[in-house]
Amino acid sequence: MNIQDVRSIGVVGAGQMGNGIAQVAAQFGYQVVMVDVSGPALEKGIATISGSCDRLIKKATMTEGQKAELLGRIKTSQEMTALKDCDVVVEAATENIDLKLKIFKQLDEVAKPTAILASNTSSISITKIAAVTKRPTQVAGMHFMNPVPLMKLVEGIKGLQTSDETFKTVKALSEKMDKVFVESVKDMPGFIVNRILMPMINEAVYTLHEGIANVEAIDNAMKLGTNQPMGPLTLADFIGLDTCLAIMNVLHDGLGDSKYRPCPLLVKYVEAGWLGRKTGRGFYDYSQK
Ligand code: NAD
Repeated sequence: MNIQDVRSIGVVGAGQMGNGIAQVAAQFGYQVVMVDVSGPALEKGIATISGSCDRLIKKATMTEGQKAELLGRIKTSQEMTALKDCDVVVEAATENIDLKLKIFKQLDEVAKPTAILASNTSSISITKIAAVTKRPTQVAGMHFMNPVPLMKLVEGIKGLQTSDETFKTVKALSEKMDKVFVESVKDMPGFIVNRILMPMINEAVYTLHEGIANVEAIDNAMKLGTNQPMGPLTLADFIGLDTCLAIMNVLHDGLGDSKYRPCPLLVKYVEAGWLGRKTGRGFYDYSQK
């Protein structure tokens, strides 16, 4: 599939990342089909896109007319078969390997033979995902950053089987959506960003767990002391603590080094359902905001 032939983009998952990818694809003129198993997640996804457009309108970088056009390009469905005509499908469902393997088997059955299947996974092996399909050369990683409309980076991941043609198309597609594409040419756990970011977040949780400092002190220390725009615990709440834990588990299992063991406090927060902003509580309380 050449970039010139890409007209429609499918997105699996309407959560934080899925709705952001759908928004950006529609903003750059692609027809979008966003699929989620959950009806409320689809409704929330569309409401989030609408809110995000309103913020752009306030900043005078989008008009009401452009918003209406953008929303008009996005269809939603709870059925995977709705993706049958898409040229590229980007999967952005929950970070769980069994779930992703199941979704890619389904996608391989419903998507047209020429379609490229990409995953927005933060850490799961693209090689493994590609292997459950009958088109492994047409599978690649397209790792967008959160929030997708604002963040410039797409980390491209070349699985062992990914063809040069497929990789070229996902790079060109990312650039069409005004993103900077960096290449992770080896498909290793965590790729580039999360190989470096997640151990830092995990270490921040250990710093809290061991009583070395409180949440605000840890975030301020890293914000003001290392010039990061937000502290690691704020960032963890933003990403979702379940996602952070899932990535640490992938690093730990995949690289086999005990330095990647997830902090027990992170595990406890996830067990409590304190997943960060999306549930109203994580390291901070968002219920009143
Ligand atoms: P999320 O929890 O906000 O959304 C996940 C969505 O997937 C939910 O709406 C859920 O209903 C849906 N889903 C679950 N099973 C499904 C299925 N079988 N078919 C269709 N939809 C299904 O999660 P998120 O933060 O958007 O993360 C999605 C993916 O993006 C993960 O792989 C994550 O690692 C990756 N990612 C997340 C971030 C981040 O900062 N949150 C950044 C980069 C990449």
